[in-house]
Amino acid sequence: MPEGQVSHRNAGRFTRCLVGQTIAEAWSTDPRVRAQRLDTRLVGETITAAEARGKFHILRFSSGRTLVSHLMMSGAWHLYANDTAPAGRPVMLGLRVPGYVATLVRCPNVQLLEPGAPLPGRVKALGPDMLDPEVDPGPALRAALSAITPGREIGEALLDQRVVCGIGNVYKSEALFLSGVDPWRPVGSITPAEAEAIGQTATGLLHTGTLRRGPISTYDPPGWLPSWGPSGQTWVYGRHRKPCRRCGTAVRAHGQGDTHRTTYWCPVCQR
Ligand SMILES: [Zn+2]
Repeated sequence: MPEGQVSHRNAGRFTRCLVGQTIAEAWSTDPRVRAQRLDTRLVGETITAAEARGKFHILRFSSGRTLVSHLMMSGAWHLYANDTAPAGRPVMLGLRVPGYVATLVRCPNVQLLEPGAPLPGRVKALGPDMLDPEVDPGPALRAALSAITPGREIGEALLDQRVVCGIGNVYKSEALFLSGVDPWRPVGSITPAEAEAIGQTATGLLHTGTLRRGPISTYDPPGWLPSWGPSGQTWVYGRHRKPCRRCGTAVRAHGQGDTHRTTYWCPVCQR
């Protein structure tokens, strides 16, 4: 699932492979994206920067234009060496530069901003990015939680990208389990030490996620060799009614917050 680890991993790959390159071809098979005429507007643009802000992808161009995309629940940016890019597949946006093809698939959430246009309000409203190297995640989360309504549940607040950004539904459940904090506790009851632990744990998991492609893994079974790739296993996420990996109690699951995203937790290990 694309959380902050994916946008930051992609920004790193784009920086290595696309920045400094000029777009030779741009195309879309999706009518909603074609209406923006990105095929003609992007050709000839030189990519000057690739950034991640929370779960947003931002590409900057020499003309001053900015391309903003968000993968929502199921989108993906793929990057291929020129001769390995699959032909004829539906793409929301395809970009060809010398040596590489980048494709945005399954999510039409892409917008090209003209020079000087402000970033969309949803980007400007983002809280501190937990993967920004200039953000100290423990103090950042502690400060962010102290500034919001104390009655909000910690599991809901962590998903609010205006509080801090980058943490999605998987890392939320996993970081709270590893920090021993019940996701239903009100933010006002979270101690500064707990807030810092949650922030550092979540960011550690996200950082590991930037280094490994494939399904999110936070738990590697005994004997698992990292060279095999991500195990795709977790401590509690997706493990409703299965035994807690620490205490054996059945893992619980319930929708939380206005968006009703499913939170997983161990009622014994998390207090
Ligand atoms: Zn447990």
